[in-house]
Amino acid sequence: MVVKTKATLVEKNQLSNDVYHFIFSTQDEFLYEAGQFLNFVVEKENQERPLRRAYSITSTPSSSEIKFFELCVKIEEYGEFTPILQQSELGTQFNIMGPLGLFKLKNVDDSSNITQVFIAAGTGIAPMRSFIKDLLLNKNYLGKIVLLFGVRTYQDILYDEEFKELSKKYPNFNYVITLSRADDSWAGLRGYVQDHIDDLEINFVDSTFYICGRTKMVDSVHEVLDSLNVVKERRSHEKFG
Ligand SMILES: Cc1cc2nc3c(=O)[nH]c(=O)nc-3n(C[C@H](O)[C@H](O)[C@H](O)COP(=O)(O)OP(=O)(O)OC[C@H]3O[C@@H](n4cnc5c(N)ncnc54)[C@H](O)[C@@H]3O)c2cc1C
Repeated sequence: MVVKTKATLVEKNQLSNDVYHFIFSTQDEFLYEAGQFLNFVVEKENQERPLRRAYSITSTPSSSEIKFFELCVKIEEYGEFTPILQQSELGTQFNIMGPLGLFKLKNVDDSSNITQVFIAAGTGIAPMRSFIKDLLLNKNYLGKIVLLFGVRTYQDILYDEEFKELSKKYPNFNYVITLSRADDSWAGLRGYVQDHIDDLEINFVDSTFYICGRTKMVDSVHEVLDSLNVVKERRSHEKFG
């Protein structure tokens, strides 16, 4: 059910040069499914219409009473909203509306033979973190889960320790990083996520793909999946603009 409620900023952590993890508590119960997003609705002086900005929820969903959510947001230096968020003091209240969106898990019921493949770039990791933790922690998913995550440099990797811990604890979770601007000390994969899809050790026919990031990245990933004959029904995406 979509609700309009107030969200209070309760925690703010810097994850990289320009990305923050925000935790909000909500006035009313806020139930959502992994992959969904919410809208901030901000009244601005001298503007006829309120400013609306969408953010994917990165926290793990719960079916019981839940009055908080987490976000992973890139601060755009000249953006209208993200600098406001970055500079907000703890305790600041915002109007939000959600949950919204149809970017949700598919083929997870009694289908442990289906590989769930999450392909993200930058803050496109936000819904993927929610999906992966929902599968591993809530749903005890036994099938293979792959995260292919691309950022520019080592310092830009988001939630690295958390994903490393999960991959140690759950042998069915495979965590793959690629850096597009790595320095010489990086021994891992280089380039964009779309350069490495082909190399994933998965059965492409029995996999479901989730893609999230900016439009150009999402479109490039679809092109690779087209070339690998992955049917459209096995893919879903969220574009951040
Ligand atoms: C479904 C969905 C989910 C999303 N989830 C996330 C998420 O989880 N995390 C996340 O970080 N983002 C997410 N986004 C993107 C988010 O909604 C915003 O678009 C983003 O945060 C930028 O908002 P802003 O108001 O700060 O920037 P905007 O004001 O919208 O500006 C966008 C860009 O334009 C540039 N710009 C603006 N004005 C000018 C100007 N006058 N001259 C030159 N350049 C200018 C800014 O620098 C910036 O790069 C999502 C988008 C969608 C649609």
